[in-house]
Amino acid sequence: MTVEELFSPEGPLAREESDYEFRPQQTRMAAAVMATLERGGGLVVEAGTGVGKSLAYLLPGALWAVSGGRRLQVSTHTRALQEQVMERELPIVARVLNRLGQTLRYAMLMGADNYLCVRRLERLAQSPELFSESAMTVLEDLAVWAKTADTGQRSRLPHLVAQGLWRRICRDPEFCLGQGRQGPAQCGRCLYRCDRDRAEKAQVLVINHALLLSAARLPPSDALVVDEAHTLPDVAAGHFGMVVTPGRFLRLAEETAALARRAASGGEDADGSWAEAQRWAGLCAEEGPLFLKQVALRHGFSESVAEPGGRLLDGSWGKVEPPSLPDLERCLAEVRRPCPDPEDESVAQALQVRVAALRKDLRELFEADSLETARWVEWFPLGRQDRSECGPALRGFGFELRATPLDVAERLSERLLGPGVPVVMTSATLSWGRGLGEFKEQVGLAGARELALDSPFDFRSQAALFILDDVPDPSDEAGYATAVARRCRDIIPRIPGGVFILFSSWKMLRRVHELIRDRIKGRPLWVQGASGNETLLSDFILAGNAVLLGVDTFWQGVDVPGSALSCVILTKLPFPNFASPVESARRRWHESFGRSYFDCWSLPRAVMKLRQGFGRLIRSAADRGAVVILDSRILHKRYGETFLEALPPCRRISSMEELSRFFSRRKPGKKGSKISAERGRYHRRQEKDAI
Ligand code: SF4
Repeated sequence: MTVEELFSPEGPLAREESDYEFRPQQTRMAAAVMATLERGGGLVVEAGTGVGKSLAYLLPGALWAVSGGRRLQVSTHTRALQEQVMERELPIVARVLNRLGQTLRYAMLMGADNYLCVRRLERLAQSPELFSESAMTVLEDLAVWAKTADTGQRSRLPHLVAQGLWRRICRDPEFCLGQGRQGPAQCGRCLYRCDRDRAEKAQVLVINHALLLSAARLPPSDALVVDEAHTLPDVAAGHFGMVVTPGRFLRLAEETAALARRAASGGEDADGSWAEAQRWAGLCAEEGPLFLKQVALRHGFSESVAEPGGRLLDGSWGKVEPPSLPDLERCLAEVRRPCPDPEDESVAQALQVRVAALRKDLRELFEADSLETARWVEWFPLGRQDRSECGPALRGFGFELRATPLDVAERLSERLLGPGVPVVMTSATLSWGRGLGEFKEQVGLAGARELALDSPFDFRSQAALFILDDVPDPSDEAGYATAVARRCRDIIPRIPGGVFILFSSWKMLRRVHELIRDRIKGRPLWVQGASGNETLLSDFILAGNAVLLGVDTFWQGVDVPGSALSCVILTKLPFPNFASPVESARRRWHESFGRSYFDCWSLPRAVMKLRQGFGRLIRSAADRGAVVILDSRILHKRYGETFLEALPPCRRISSMEELSRFFSRRKPGKKGSKISAERGRYHRRQEKDAI
């Protein structure tokens, strides 16, 4: 059966999905995906909102995999999309293939720390002296549950497990005894192996970008589809970078101490080498966090600052590590081997590898000298949760050293194209002002074919754009915050449904929230961070007329169809923060090639982000709403036209009265509202499942 027949109004997909709507863009994308799978090479597809891109790659991809005995790997950025593909789209695809007489096997794999390790659980459950009574009850219940469970996924556990405890019972690849096909005998029934077995039999395997880029041994695949591909460069930069946190020192000390205690209680430390390792590890746990603080103090941090911040490392400091770290490495190399317990042996080896890796990272952070990598120290006020990650030596502030490459194209190309399999990348927003070329270069797919598909929605009749010309320049922070708050108070009562107010910085969000929190009446007002993002989103959807103030996360990947989101207020144009260490390094790097940082990076990034923010508004053919931009630079600066040309063509509104009239003529789509309520319940279920 051809792709066109699959997606035709009378085809098997239409017969399987009662509310199927034929969309030519979807069929074009599916045909391009199938052609790439058959011919090989790369394909980059920008598919506007409403094209139905998940089915456009899943259906041809699954058919290609099943009919040829192959495996398709699908990678998403967010867990929400990963689960949506698993729970909503792949069941439809499986039913369509069933109609064609084929059976589809599909599975999902997540990063290692999403899985329970029954071996670690069992060992910890034998040390009740380490835990509170309630934590011990959780461990014992989990041990009983694990005897009959067929998955180790954290989201499927019968208990909510606090992060601190979870870190000690999740699968840790460095300490895992079952790297081969069989779990070792002492692991008993390894639940991760159950998930892994399903993944190895799957014809469509859903993973995420972090796992895709990790060194984890994934089942080999014959083709790769990357959804939410616009996030791939940033995920890759994080993945190929490094971070030294106080937690790295603390965990080393904790694991070394646990091992030393076991050696001593088993009479295996006659020469005292484990006791010495434990002593050096304890010193590391004290010195490591203080070392990071010393670095921050040398780079401009002072106890009197209230905001998070960071500075590029200047590299002129003679020290590269706390003095106890080399001694800990030496001691771990000298402790008595072999250990009587094979797991202790593997933990001892892993600890040595970890210390060596930590020392290597520190040397690279301080001694490498390349413009292509940003290296910086970061400080941030400690929240309650962070405290256990930073140890007792730090109070008030946490400190981290970070490095990230500024160009990931070559490494991505090696990782994704190296195996020689077809690669499809897709997202609703990929173009950076001048077509898809820049994105393709950034992900190392310069030679890939490209396809840009407009949204099937009628933005001229569904959306309105209102740009206010009387808001001060955002560089006047106090004046700008006051003006934004005043405009929001004026706009919100005119909107019958829900409102997003999106910011580029937490600082501005907090200022505006202070100014409007007691002035918005008759509807809920929430701020990102007040609860988990999924909870916040489901509450927002169910409320129907709430106001939500958000930063990065809510600019992209958030789906609220219907009147529950009727207006998106975009505050300052979302240029990257040029004062941040990584942007300073990026500017220096661009300038070293004689390129303009603003034209080549800052402006395209801001345009793409503005498009993503705008894209939150219209999520279904029944939606209608307005985007308000509270940054008049878009009207007066030379680059303003670049932003305006990138937005979908829609009606322009020029006054508050016109905005009121736009909504007073609105007939709230019943269908949209129902979709919102259903979506709210869906998010709620996801949240419950995650617990
Ligand atoms: S094989 Fe690895 S994940 Fe499985 S129980 Fe053993 S140590 Fe844990």
